[in-house]
Amino acid sequence: MTAQLINGKEISRQRLEEVARQTAERSAAGLRPPCLAVVLVGDDPASAVYVRNKKLACGKVGFKSLSYELPAETSQEDLLQLVDGLNADSEVDGILVQLPLPKQIDSQAVLERIAPHKDVDGFHPYNVGRLVVKMPLMRPCTPKGVMTLLEAYGINPEGKKAVVVGASNIVGRPQMLELLLARATVTICHSKTQNLAAEVAAADIVVAGVGIPNFVKGQWIKPGAVVIDVGINRLDNGKLCGDVEFDTAKERASMITPVPGGVGPMTIATLLENTLYAAKLHDKA
Ligand code: NAP
Repeated sequence: MTAQLINGKEISRQRLEEVARQTAERSAAGLRPPCLAVVLVGDDPASAVYVRNKKLACGKVGFKSLSYELPAETSQEDLLQLVDGLNADSEVDGILVQLPLPKQIDSQAVLERIAPHKDVDGFHPYNVGRLVVKMPLMRPCTPKGVMTLLEAYGINPEGKKAVVVGASNIVGRPQMLELLLARATVTICHSKTQNLAAEVAAADIVVAGVGIPNFVKGQWIKPGAVVIDVGINRLDNGKLCGDVEFDTAKERASMITPVPGGVGPMTIATLLENTLYAAKLHDKA
C-alpha cells in the first residue's frame, strides 16, 4: 500500500483564503483589520525566518502586523514591559513572542504575562487549562492545525486509538488534549516510555513531535494507520526532514503528511485563524 499524501500546503491555502475573505468582510462592515504584534528577541536565524513568514502571511490576508525586534541582551524586565504595553494597546488583537528566548529570560514568565485573550499561540496556562476542561479558547496552533488537517481529510478520531510521540508543552501535550477532545483514546509517549515501537504499532493515528530525524520507524506503523509528522529537522545537506521515516512509513500508512508541506503550513494558518478569533472577541469586549 502507498499512503495518500495529506497536503497541508493546500489545506492551509484554503484556510487562509477564508481568513482573508472574513477580513475583507470586516472591513466592508467598517471594522478594523485584525492586528498581530510579533516580538523577536535576538538573532536566531530560524526564528527570524519564522517571524518573517508570519508577518508575510499577515500581509497576504489583510491583517495589520506590528514588529518588535529586540537585541539578544534584552532583559526580562524590558520584555515584560513591552508585553504589558501590548496587552494594554486596544489596537492589538494578538501577541506572539517567538521562542526560544535568550537564556537570561524566563520564557514561561513571559508567556504567562500575555493577556490570555491575546495569546494567539495558545501557550498561556489559562488557555491550556481551558483545553483540559473541554472549553477551548485560544488553542495552541500546531496541534489545532493537525486537527484541521484530520478533519479536512475526513479522519474522525472518535473511538480511534491515537498515539502521540513527544510530550512538549507546545506540541505533544496539547495534541493529546485535542485528540481527547475529539474522543480518541490517547496514549502519550516521551523519552521514558518503555517499548515505544509496540505503542506506535497499536495506533490508528500516530502524531510524532520529537525533534529527531526519522525517529519513528516505518516498520512500527500499523498497516492502514494515519501518520502525522510534526517534526521539522534540517539535515546537514540543508534539506528538511520529519520525525517519521517517511519512505517506509508511507508503504504501511493509509494517509501521511510529508515534510515539508504537511503540518508546517497549518501552524501559520492556525495562528492567523486565532488572531481573527481574538479580533472578534475584542469587538465584543
Ligand atoms: P521538544 O520540546 O524538544 O520535545 C520533544 C519531546 O520528544 C519531549 O517530550 C521528549 O520527551 C520527547 N522525546 C525525546 N526523545 C525521545 C525518545 N527517545 N523517545 C520518545 N520521546 C522522546 O520539541 P518540540 O518543541 O515539541 O518539537 C518537536 C518537533 O516538532 C521538532 O522537530 C520541531 O521542530 C517540530 N515542531 C514543528 C512545528 C510545526 O509547525 N510543524 C511546530 C513546533 C515544533 P521528554 O518529555 O521525556 O523530554
